[in-house]
Amino acid sequence: MSDRLPGFSTLAVHAGAQPDPTTGARATPIYQTTSFVFNDADHAASLFGLQAFGNIYTRIGNPTNAVLEERVAALEGGTAALAVASGHAAQVVVLQQLLQPGDEFIAARKLYGGSINQFTHAFKSFGWNVVWADPDDIASFERAVTPRTKAIFIESIANPAGSITDIEAISSVAAKAGVPLIVDNTLASPYLIRPIDHGADIVVHSLTKFLGGHGNSLGGIIVDAGTFDWSTGGKYPMLSEPRPEYHGIRLQETFGNFAFAIACRVLGLRDLGPALSPFNAFMILTGIETLPLRMQKHCDNAKAVAEFLAGHPAVASVSYAGLPSDKYNQLARKYAPKGAGAVFTFSLKGGYDAGVGLVSKLQLFSHLANVGDTRSLVIHPASTTHSQLDDAAKVKSGAGPDVVRLSIGIEDKEDLIADLEQALAA
Ligand SMILES: *Cc1c(COP(=O)(O)O)cnc(C)c1O
Repeated sequence: MSDRLPGFSTLAVHAGAQPDPTTGARATPIYQTTSFVFNDADHAASLFGLQAFGNIYTRIGNPTNAVLEERVAALEGGTAALAVASGHAAQVVVLQQLLQPGDEFIAARKLYGGSINQFTHAFKSFGWNVVWADPDDIASFERAVTPRTKAIFIESIANPAGSITDIEAISSVAAKAGVPLIVDNTLASPYLIRPIDHGADIVVHSLTKFLGGHGNSLGGIIVDAGTFDWSTGGKYPMLSEPRPEYHGIRLQETFGNFAFAIACRVLGLRDLGPALSPFNAFMILTGIETLPLRMQKHCDNAKAVAEFLAGHPAVASVSYAGLPSDKYNQLARKYAPKGAGAVFTFSLKGGYDAGVGLVSKLQLFSHLANVGDTRSLVIHPASTTHSQLDDAAKVKSGAGPDVVRLSIGIEDKEDLIADLEQALAA
């Protein structure tokens, strides 16, 4: 082997995987087993005491899932990762390590609709309080910091309009406040943006979207950048204080720059339980092998469709950061030079009725609540994914009544444009 560091496409195919040592199987096997036999009593005790790494029970870890974890950690440039059952499970597990009841976290207002719901309603019953800030106004994050702030949460490419977030500016706010920056990198994938290179401390994904990429398997993942010092000021007792469940060990002291990933596994996943099925891990691993090819095609198609819509007389506006006229184009050039993603919105001159009408006339686009599928998808956010927000909040989060969201797939772009053309003409 040369001493060259492998490139992104090589890592997408190989990172974390080797031929199976017992059978020689080249594809990563699906280890469809709940539990693993111990060598002897000492081995069992050392696994349970965190003195040795190894497999115990699939809720805590599984060899198929471990390949997925190593691969995504490599693609994102993190020290370690933890795969879980869904993107939402990743968010719960991350915040459980950081927040005590009564604590706060600051979140960008432009987010996946499900995350807005989870943060506003579900987390309230845990005593975790979300404070909203505007990703287009960095000072609004600074103003939101209080002594109870424990984290800042943003999306790199943000729902629903595909706007680009200034990760470095917000990471400076987080560093000054002494709290970790969590970046949901689902819409970008590490092929377009690697948030850790721009100051993120933790990256989360819904693997359900571009990483899995085929609309067939739910999953989520947490990547530890290994950059944050959890011992400062006793703010993160899950990481810095002795853990009674593990004979009083301190996770940061014992595990150093991958202590956060360990905490997520042995305190979060073990006790909350949202384990990823090894079958889903296998499907997602297979998807990741073609991530660079798919993502480039997604972006190239999205740009062509956005240009077509921007020139159409029935269209009032297009929000796609890849268009030179877009207000996020400068940020797109800096953070996502290979392409501005494949999820964006546009609005029709005919308002709400025209938006809903268009959705029903499209034939090749599937009308459903998902993004990041090989297939092109369409939805009207105001009446679906963002329907829980009041009218002002809908507009603020980019999901006004006249807005239609597209997730552009990897079909031939001419067919996508022809479908939009017939639906707009009808
Ligand atoms: C889908 C999605 C989630 C939630 O992921 P699930 O896998 O559906 O739980 C979180 N963030 C973003 C940006 C998403 O698109």
